[in-house]
Amino acid sequence: MNTKKMSALAAPTLLDLFSQPVEVMPPEEEEAEGGLLPSLAELYNRFRRYNIQHFAGKLPTPRIRYSDRLLAAGLFIRNRQEIVLSRRYHEIFPQDIDDTLKHEMVHILHFNHDAEFKKEAARIGASYRAKAHKSLKLPPRYIYYCRVCKAEFPRRKRLISASCGKCAPSRFDPKYKLALKTRVK
Ligand SMILES: [Zn+2]
Ligand SMILES: [Zn+2]
Repeated sequence: MNTKKMSALAAPTLLDLFSQPVEVMPPEEEEAEGGLLPSLAELYNRFRRYNIQHFAGKLPTPRIRYSDRLLAAGLFIRNRQEIVLSRRYHEIFPQDIDDTLKHEMVHILHFNHDAEFKKEAARIGASYRAKAHKSLKLPPRYIYYCRVCKAEFPRRKRLISASCGKCAPSRFDPKYKLALKTRVK
C-alpha cells in the first residue's frame, strides 16, 4: 500500500509516556554473523533512522535480538522492552526485515492489533498483520474434533475447554465442546 505521504502527519500522542528513553545495547555474542540478515548493529541503526523519520526520535530504544525459535516474523515483548526478529522467517523472506522492524516499533506504542495500531502502521508504511510462514509451523501434537459436525482441529497445545468454531462461532458452548481424537506420536 502507498502510505508514504501520510508519514508527514503529526507524531502520535502516546509518545509523551516516554519521558526518559533508555538505550540498551545487545551483548557482543549475540551479533548476527554475516549472510543474508543485517547485523544487530545495523538493526539498531535502522531503528534509529525510522525513529527519527516517523516518531520524531521519541520512541525509547528497545533491546533488539534475533530468535532461532520464533515462528512468526517478529514479536515485541512489552515487559522486557524487547523486539525479537525471527531468523528462520527472515532467512526465507529477507526482504521483509524492515517491514517487520517497523511493525514491531508500532507495538511499542500499541500492544494489540487494534484500530489505533492499524492507523499508526499505515502512517509509517508498515504492514499491520502479524506475518508468519506456514512452512515454519510445527506439526500438531493433538487432533481435536467436534462430535456434532465432525470438523477436526489440529493443535500444538492441549485445549482445556474449547468449543467448535463452526457450530458455536461467537462464544464457548459446552454442547459443541471439542473432544480429543488423536494424540500425535
Ligand atoms: Zn504485531
Ligand atoms: Zn462443530
